Amino acid sequence: MQVSRNNLLFILLFAGGIILPTAILAYLSFRNIQNEVYLAQKNFDENRASFQSELEDAVSKEQKKIYQETKGASLFLYEQPRGLLDFGNATEFKSVDGIEAIFLFNNGSLVYPDISSRKFSSTQDFSTTIPSAREKALYQEELANPSNREKIYQSRVARTVHPSSIFFDSKEDQVQNLLGMIRFNYQNKKYDAALELLEILEKQPHQQGYLHTDLTRSANLLHFEILVAQKKHQEAQDYCLQILNEFLEDKSIKDLSSSRFFFESAFTQILSFEKLPQDRREAFWNLRENFNRQLGYMDILFKHKDLFVEALEDENSSKDGILYKQEDDITILKMSYPYLSGDQMVIAKIDNKAYRDRLVSKMKMVAQSWKNIPFSVVDQNDNIILGSIPDSSIIVSQGILSDAMNWEFSLYEKDMQDIKKESRHRMFLMYGLMLFALFAVIFGSVFMLRFIAQERRLLSMKTNFLSSVSHELKTPLTSIKMFAEMMARGRVQKVEKVQEYSGLIGKEATRLENLIGAILNYTRMENGTSAFKWEKLDFSACAQKVFDAVENIGIEKGLEFRAHFESCSFVMGDYTALYSLCQNLIENAIKYTNAPGEITIDVHIEDNHVVFSVMDTGVGIPPAEQKNIFNDFYRVGDEMTRSTKGSGLGLAIVKRVAKTHRATISLVSRPGKGSTFTVKFKKAE
Ligand code: ADP
Repeated sequence: MQVSRNNLLFILLFAGGIILPTAILAYLSFRNIQNEVYLAQKNFDENRASFQSELEDAVSKEQKKIYQETKGASLFLYEQPRGLLDFGNATEFKSVDGIEAIFLFNNGSLVYPDISSRKFSSTQDFSTTIPSAREKALYQEELANPSNREKIYQSRVARTVHPSSIFFDSKEDQVQNLLGMIRFNYQNKKYDAALELLEILEKQPHQQGYLHTDLTRSANLLHFEILVAQKKHQEAQDYCLQILNEFLEDKSIKDLSSSRFFFESAFTQILSFEKLPQDRREAFWNLRENFNRQLGYMDILFKHKDLFVEALEDENSSKDGILYKQEDDITILKMSYPYLSGDQMVIAKIDNKAYRDRLVSKMKMVAQSWKNIPFSVVDQNDNIILGSIPDSSIIVSQGILSDAMNWEFSLYEKDMQDIKKESRHRMFLMYGLMLFALFAVIFGSVFMLRFIAQERRLLSMKTNFLSSVSHELKTPLTSIKMFAEMMARGRVQKVEKVQEYSGLIGKEATRLENLIGAILNYTRMENGTSAFKWEKLDFSACAQKVFDAVENIGIEKGLEFRAHFESCSFVMGDYTALYSLCQNLIENAIKYTNAPGEITIDVHIEDNHVVFSVMDTGVGIPPAEQKNIFNDFYRVGDEMTRSTKGSGLGLAIVKRVAKTHRATISLVSRPGKGSTFTVKFKKAE
């Protein structure tokens, strides 16, 4: 490609505008990436600190939220039911997710749950009483039958004594025997007898020793169930309420769990009564809810009394007024009650699972936005709650995350291998992209330059062509015009002269015709093969015809010809196109060979091919030009060509004709020695 001033400018602009900035950018990016590991390390330290504080914040915020909710819920505790009537009323109760039970104290004594303000006692009293005559009679009656005796014995809860000595050996035996008989009657559907015995049992006050609480509630439940079995639903309800009243009025509460069991089963059964009126159903429902909750709370209080007393008496609360106490798997928190005057105090039992879930969900949200930081949160039993403990990493920071849960939070040293690997990946990606961009720019530019050069060449060829074609057209036209004018003016009188001039006019007209024919042929080729008329024809005949037409021009120039046309050289093709191919090759040989010279034209059959060759001893074509001469409008820039008329279209036409006929062209040429053009057609069957 010739480097003109414009090209140079273009190259300068290209280098300055694209390559240079790209190179500088690439260099800067590479340097930047090299700093990556260092920066990543620095960043990581900063991130770690932020992560830790965000995590701590999230936990403490969520804890505070739970305290606020607990405080809010405790407001409702004053409105909770206190007496039997209250229990039946619907009252709002706010539960808090994460808190299992809330207790309200005033001046050290319990305000809610109200029923637990009674004295707690689990004393069991087994002092004796003498059985009544009726009781004895009943025993006798039942035990007279030996099979009954065995069954009663089987129904007893404690089978320590043999049936024969079943009677009044110990006070506990007396109770057991009675219960056994009641159950026996109940199983045999002797409800009235069972009830009679039950009343005897119930009339014996516990203090007198027949029953401890456990057995009292068993007897109560049996009584209740007998009433239900007898379908005395109203009586069953009244009985249940009577027991509830006794329970609430009792000065001390014994064995809470058996009482809970009794009320839970009784209420559930009452709620299943079909004919229970709606308002009563609602009342019993509320009764069950409220009473159960309070009993449940009392259960907790009862079990962990020491812990509660410890919390109540402990003065050392945190700055938020919160104090935690832990014992095995129970955690309670104490907070001062903010809404009322006096010495109110709220103690709440944390629901470990729900509390943990609330905090963990908040921690997870933080951890999600800080990926790639190795950390772990473990509970008191070293169970991992969040994160993971890396195999061999150094702990860089540690702390307690939740005062309530006592979780240990640890941050670890990041494995720098990871960061290095990450940077390396990024670096490769960057290098790859840069290289790709650079290659794309360079290739694109080279192609663009080539394209521009080609366009220019084509433009100059076309200009060349136009000027040579117009020159070609003008020359014969001038001669024709001149001779015609001379004859028109009557200057040419002699018959010989008129004949000579007319002959010249005819010759020039033929030249014009040929030129226009060449241009038409070329355009015809340009437009494709649609205008071709394909037929099987004898190539030799076609070449011979061309030779006959142009031979004289060569002979006049002083050239010698040798020609050989093998007959029956059939090919499939378009006659006009093949004629044009032969004409161009033979005419070129004549044009570019000076006298004395020799031109050999040959058509022969070789294997399956028809071979056509034109050999001359002319000027030849330099090797560098041999590729170009088949291009449209191309003419070699030597003296010989300049002095020879032509359009630069002849070989372009030859090439196209050969291509459309699937023929190959080869050229052997040496400057100063001559050229041989060979075209090889496929022979037609
Ligand atoms: P033109 O009309 O100029 O002859 P062609 O396409 O036929 O155009 O040929 C292209 C160029 O190839 C010519 O300008 C000439 O320089 C060169 N050329 C073609 N045939 C011969 C030949 N037989 N000997 C030497 N040069 C040739």
